[in-house]
Amino acid sequence: MLFPELETPAVLVDHATLLRNIQSMAKGAQAAGVQLRPHIKTHKTAEILRLQLEHGATGVTVAKLGEAEVMASAGANDLLVAYQITGEQKCSRIKRLQDQGVRITCGADNREQIEWLDRMAGTMATTFELAVEVNTGLDRAGVLPGEEAVRLAHAIATAPNLRFRGFFTHEGHAYSADSPERVAGIGTRASQALVATARDAIQAGLPVEMVSVGSTPTARAGAWAPGVTEIRPGNYVFHDRQQIALGAAAEHDCALTILATVISRPAPDRAVIDAGSKTLSSDRGAHGSQMEGFGNVQGPFPRRLIRLSEEHGVLAVSPDDPLRPGDRVRMIPNHACVVSNLHDWLFVVEGNRVTAQWRVAARGRVQ
Ligand code: PLP
Repeated sequence: MLFPELETPAVLVDHATLLRNIQSMAKGAQAAGVQLRPHIKTHKTAEILRLQLEHGATGVTVAKLGEAEVMASAGANDLLVAYQITGEQKCSRIKRLQDQGVRITCGADNREQIEWLDRMAGTMATTFELAVEVNTGLDRAGVLPGEEAVRLAHAIATAPNLRFRGFFTHEGHAYSADSPERVAGIGTRASQALVATARDAIQAGLPVEMVSVGSTPTARAGAWAPGVTEIRPGNYVFHDRQQIALGAAAEHDCALTILATVISRPAPDRAVIDAGSKTLSSDRGAHGSQMEGFGNVQGPFPRRLIRLSEEHGVLAVSPDDPLRPGDRVRMIPNHACVVSNLHDWLFVVEGNRVTAQWRVAARGRVQ
């Protein structure tokens, strides 16, 4: 089938661009001597996971155990759950994954959680492996670098049923930078703070295997300090309009696009498409950043996607734009990671042809 014949709205993934993105990130990591543990929340598909593993990924990052379970059944056997796990059911699920031979490391950033996980691991006759999450500026989860992080590392390392693996941070505040230089500066400072924390921990006698940083813009800038052991970009497989705005990608690096159909041309300056917030999400950008509009609409005429209802997208067009109901438009979304989670299928395209259909197997796995 040719992709213009697909029923819409449809999510297209350009195979050549996807592969190029996967290979270039793997090459960059290899050249710098760091391991690559991509975050799969961006694609949530077994097929893309396998491409990442074939092309040099040494481990996998997820946010949720539901994602971990899907990725484990697709072949991932070394998972970082970059998230604070609490709750008895979650612990049973970790144990089940361990029993299947999957190595799983979870995030920790507070003493109550650590003490509780230690008790749960004891009850389940297992050992939970933990990494301390460090807040290097995003101000989401995580403890401050330095003393506080080392104290938690010590609490884990000395708990009878836990094993301390290292430190991780997500330098997502790079998304608020207004130039590639600032993105690089944020990446460098965040990773320096993490490396310094790891050194303090080593000096205190703690074994530190993992010094893990991660975001696409900082990884694309190669902005990590010596001493970092692994990087965890996620969005890089697809890129999106926000990565273009940050200078981390060009339009031709964007593998994921949305195909939509014009359903109405109610005014000379307005056209309406069949893709609204239930196709694109209302996300203006990652981590609360606020881009103008909702996507880059491709084509010879200036077309701005200015407004979304649930199932309608409003395009501002010029009166001489010939766009009519039934015409197709293709768009790069602001934030690709939330788009895949809204769809059952990714349609893989090579040139004009649809060559495969990949199920978004971990879509909606938020538990
Ligand atoms: N690591 C963690 C903990 C994250 O939360 C994210 C993204 O939200 C990433 C890595 C990947 O970052 P990016 O989406 O910039 O590729």
